Amino acid sequence: MLTRRTLLAAAAGALSSPVGLARAAAPFSRPPLAYGTDALAPHISERTLTHHETIHQGYFDALNSLVDGTPYADMALEDVVVAAKNAGDTAVHNNAAQAFNHIVYFDQFAGGFAPPGFVIDEALNREFGGLEGFADAVVDGAKGVFGTSWLWLTAEGDGLFLEAYEDAGNPLGSGRQILFTADLWEHAYYLDYQTDQAAHLRALVLELVNWDTIDQAYIQGG
Ligand code: MN
Repeated sequence: MLTRRTLLAAAAGALSSPVGLARAAAPFSRPPLAYGTDALAPHISERTLTHHETIHQGYFDALNSLVDGTPYADMALEDVVVAAKNAGDTAVHNNAAQAFNHIVYFDQFAGGFAPPGFVIDEALNREFGGLEGFADAVVDGAKGVFGTSWLWLTAEGDGLFLEAYEDAGNPLGSGRQILFTADLWEHAYYLDYQTDQAAHLRALVLELVNWDTIDQAYIQGG
Protein backbone atom coordinates (compact mmCIF):
# COMPACT_ATOMS: atom_id res chain seq x y z
CA MET A 1 0.00 0.00 0.00
CA LEU A 2 1.36 3.33 -1.06
CA THR A 3 1.28 5.79 1.80
CA ARG A 4 2.33 9.36 2.17
CA ARG A 5 5.10 8.22 4.50
CA THR A 6 6.61 5.77 2.02
CA LEU A 7 6.43 8.40 -0.70
CA LEU A 8 8.19 10.95 1.46
CA ALA A 9 10.78 8.35 2.42
CA ALA A 10 11.27 7.56 -1.24
CA ALA A 11 11.78 11.23 -1.93
CA ALA A 12 14.41 11.60 0.78
CA GLY A 13 17.70 12.40 -0.81
CA ALA A 14 16.15 14.26 -3.70
CA LEU A 15 18.46 17.03 -4.75
CA SER A 16 17.27 20.48 -3.90
CA SER A 17 16.27 22.70 -6.78
CA PRO A 18 19.23 23.19 -9.11
CA VAL A 19 18.45 26.70 -10.23
CA GLY A 20 15.80 27.94 -7.86
CA LEU A 21 13.09 25.68 -9.20
CA ALA A 22 11.24 24.96 -5.99
CA ARG A 23 7.63 24.34 -6.83
CA ALA A 24 4.70 24.16 -4.48
CA ALA A 25 2.34 21.22 -4.34
CA ALA A 26 -0.33 20.43 -6.93
CA PRO A 27 -1.86 21.71 -9.03
CA PHE A 28 1.55 22.16 -10.55
CA SER A 29 1.81 25.08 -12.92
CA ARG A 30 4.21 25.70 -15.74
CA PRO A 31 6.31 28.78 -15.05
CA PRO A 32 6.14 31.41 -17.76
CA LEU A 33 9.15 31.80 -20.02
CA ALA A 34 11.56 34.47 -18.80
CA TYR A 35 11.85 35.76 -22.37
CA GLY A 36 9.76 36.25 -25.49
CA THR A 37 8.97 33.36 -27.79
CA ASP A 38 11.15 34.98 -30.49
CA ALA A 39 14.16 35.51 -28.19
CA LEU A 40 16.00 32.33 -29.18
CA ALA A 41 15.61 32.72 -32.94
CA PRO A 42 17.02 31.79 -35.33
CA HIS A 43 18.52 28.83 -33.47
CA ILE A 44 15.24 27.96 -31.80
CA SER A 45 12.50 29.59 -33.84
CA GLU A 46 9.34 31.10 -32.43
CA ARG A 47 7.43 28.25 -34.07
CA THR A 48 9.54 25.62 -32.31
CA LEU A 49 9.44 27.41 -28.98
CA THR A 50 5.68 27.88 -29.07
CA HIS A 51 5.20 24.23 -30.04
CA HIS A 52 7.60 23.18 -27.29
CA GLU A 53 5.69 25.22 -24.70
CA THR A 54 2.50 23.44 -25.72
CA ILE A 55 4.22 20.09 -25.24
CA HIS A 56 5.50 21.24 -21.84
CA GLN A 57 2.02 22.33 -20.77
CA GLY A 58 0.71 18.91 -21.77
CA TYR A 59 2.98 17.24 -19.23
CA PHE A 60 1.68 19.52 -16.49
CA ASP A 61 -1.93 18.83 -17.46
CA ALA A 62 -1.37 15.07 -17.48
CA LEU A 63 0.53 15.21 -14.20
CA ASN A 64 -2.18 17.21 -12.43
CA SER A 65 -4.77 14.71 -13.62
CA LEU A 66 -2.70 11.77 -12.42
CA VAL A 67 -1.82 13.09 -8.96
CA ASP A 68 -5.22 14.53 -8.08
CA GLY A 69 -6.30 13.00 -4.76
CA THR A 70 -3.01 11.11 -4.27
CA PRO A 71 -0.16 11.75 -1.83
CA TYR A 72 1.86 13.14 -4.73
CA ALA A 73 -0.43 16.17 -4.78
CA ASP A 74 1.12 17.40 -1.52
CA MET A 75 4.71 17.16 -2.70
CA ALA A 76 7.06 19.50 -4.52
CA LEU A 77 7.57 18.68 -8.18
CA GLU A 78 11.17 17.50 -7.75
CA ASP A 79 10.08 15.17 -4.95
CA VAL A 80 7.29 13.72 -7.10
CA VAL A 81 9.89 12.87 -9.77
CA VAL A 82 12.04 10.88 -7.37
CA ALA A 83 9.26 9.33 -5.29
CA ALA A 84 7.28 8.16 -8.33
CA LYS A 85 10.40 6.64 -9.85
CA ASN A 86 11.20 4.75 -6.65
CA ALA A 87 7.58 3.64 -6.28
CA GLY A 88 7.38 2.41 -9.88
CA ASP A 89 4.61 4.86 -10.80
CA THR A 90 5.80 5.23 -14.35
CA ALA A 91 3.13 7.57 -15.70
CA VAL A 92 3.48 9.96 -12.76
CA HIS A 93 7.26 9.83 -13.00
CA ASN A 94 7.34 10.42 -16.74
CA ASN A 95 5.03 13.42 -16.66
CA ALA A 96 6.61 14.95 -13.55
CA ALA A 97 10.08 14.46 -14.98
CA GLN A 98 9.16 15.97 -18.34
CA ALA A 99 7.57 18.92 -16.50
CA PHE A 100 10.77 19.38 -14.47
CA ASN A 101 13.21 18.73 -17.33
CA HIS A 102 11.69 21.42 -19.52
CA ILE A 103 11.82 23.97 -16.69
CA VAL A 104 15.57 23.42 -16.49
CA TYR A 105 15.83 23.47 -20.27
CA PHE A 106 13.98 26.77 -20.75
CA ASP A 107 15.49 28.46 -17.68
CA GLN A 108 19.04 28.01 -18.91
CA PHE A 109 18.39 30.46 -21.78
CA ALA A 110 17.14 33.28 -19.52
CA GLY A 111 19.20 36.42 -19.95
CA GLY A 112 20.59 35.31 -23.28
CA PHE A 113 23.92 33.75 -24.15
CA ALA A 114 26.79 34.60 -21.82
CA PRO A 115 30.20 32.94 -21.80
CA PRO A 116 31.15 30.82 -18.80
CA GLY A 117 32.06 32.73 -15.67
CA PHE A 118 35.51 32.08 -14.25
CA VAL A 119 34.76 29.08 -12.01
CA ILE A 120 32.69 26.99 -14.43
CA ASP A 121 35.06 28.04 -17.23
CA GLU A 122 37.97 26.54 -15.33
CA ALA A 123 36.00 23.33 -14.73
CA LEU A 124 34.89 23.08 -18.38
CA ASN A 125 38.48 23.62 -19.48
CA ARG A 126 39.68 20.87 -17.17
CA GLU A 127 36.99 18.32 -18.05
CA PHE A 128 36.23 19.07 -21.70
CA GLY A 129 38.98 21.37 -22.98
CA GLY A 130 36.68 24.40 -22.88
CA LEU A 131 33.22 25.32 -24.12
CA GLU A 132 33.95 24.17 -27.70
CA GLY A 133 35.14 20.86 -26.32
CA PHE A 134 32.00 20.62 -24.24
CA ALA A 135 29.87 21.26 -27.35
CA ASP A 136 31.70 18.40 -29.06
CA ALA A 137 31.05 16.17 -26.05
CA VAL A 138 27.33 17.03 -26.17
CA VAL A 139 27.17 16.18 -29.88
CA ASP A 140 29.04 12.92 -29.28
CA GLY A 141 26.85 12.16 -26.27
CA ALA A 142 23.71 12.61 -28.36
CA LYS A 143 25.10 10.27 -31.03
CA GLY A 144 25.71 7.69 -28.33
CA VAL A 145 22.11 7.32 -27.23
CA PHE A 146 19.31 5.43 -28.91
CA GLY A 147 15.90 7.06 -29.11
CA THR A 148 14.53 9.86 -26.99
CA SER A 149 16.76 10.97 -24.16
CA TRP A 150 18.13 13.90 -22.21
CA LEU A 151 21.77 14.85 -21.69
CA TRP A 152 22.67 16.46 -18.37
CA LEU A 153 25.76 18.31 -17.21
CA THR A 154 26.06 17.63 -13.50
CA ALA A 155 28.56 18.41 -10.77
CA GLU A 156 29.69 16.41 -7.80
CA GLY A 157 32.68 17.48 -5.74
CA ASP A 158 35.31 18.74 -8.15
CA GLY A 159 33.97 16.68 -11.04
CA LEU A 160 31.70 17.59 -13.94
CA PHE A 161 29.74 14.80 -15.59
CA LEU A 162 27.86 14.56 -18.88
CA GLU A 163 25.16 11.97 -18.36
CA ALA A 164 22.51 10.60 -20.70
CA TYR A 165 19.14 9.50 -19.34
CA GLU A 166 16.61 7.69 -21.52
CA ASP A 167 13.06 8.92 -22.09
CA ALA A 168 12.10 11.40 -19.34
CA GLY A 169 15.06 10.54 -17.11
CA ASN A 170 17.03 13.05 -15.09
CA PRO A 171 19.64 13.05 -12.31
CA LEU A 172 17.25 14.10 -9.52
CA GLY A 173 17.95 11.90 -6.53
CA SER A 174 21.50 11.10 -7.65
CA GLY A 175 23.05 13.66 -5.32
CA ARG A 176 24.63 15.49 -8.22
CA GLN A 177 23.92 19.14 -8.97
CA ILE A 178 22.17 19.80 -12.27
CA LEU A 179 23.82 22.52 -14.35
CA PHE A 180 22.68 22.16 -17.98
CA THR A 181 20.48 19.95 -20.08
CA ALA A 182 20.00 19.14 -23.75
CA ASP A 183 16.60 17.87 -24.86
CA LEU A 184 17.35 15.14 -27.40
CA TRP A 185 13.72 14.60 -28.35
CA GLU A 186 13.10 15.35 -32.00
CA HIS A 187 10.53 18.10 -31.29
CA ALA A 188 13.34 20.23 -29.82
CA TYR A 189 15.08 20.76 -33.15
CA TYR A 190 13.33 19.12 -36.08
CA LEU A 191 11.37 22.16 -37.32
CA ASP A 192 14.54 24.29 -37.40
CA TYR A 193 17.29 21.82 -38.24
CA GLN A 194 15.48 18.78 -39.65
CA THR A 195 17.86 15.90 -38.97
CA ASP A 196 20.91 18.03 -38.15
CA GLN A 197 20.70 17.58 -34.41
CA ALA A 198 24.43 18.32 -34.06
CA ALA A 199 24.01 21.86 -35.42
CA HIS A 200 21.13 22.46 -33.01
CA LEU A 201 23.18 21.20 -30.06
CA ARG A 202 26.20 23.32 -30.98
CA ALA A 203 23.98 26.42 -31.17
CA LEU A 204 22.49 25.50 -27.81
CA VAL A 205 25.86 25.34 -26.08
CA LEU A 206 27.69 28.09 -27.95
CA GLU A 207 24.97 30.66 -28.70
CA LEU A 208 21.98 30.26 -26.41
CA VAL A 209 22.83 29.10 -22.90
CA ASN A 210 23.53 31.66 -20.20
CA TRP A 211 26.74 30.13 -18.83
CA ASP A 212 27.20 32.99 -16.41
CA THR A 213 24.03 31.97 -14.57
CA ILE A 214 25.26 28.38 -14.56
CA ASP A 215 28.55 29.60 -13.11
CA GLN A 216 26.65 31.22 -10.22
CA ALA A 217 24.66 28.04 -9.59
CA TYR A 218 27.85 25.96 -9.73
CA ILE A 219 29.59 28.21 -7.22
CA GLN A 220 26.62 28.10 -4.84
CA GLY A 221 26.13 24.36 -5.32
CA GLY A 222 29.77 23.58 -4.58
MN1 MN B 1 11.08 18.71 -25.17
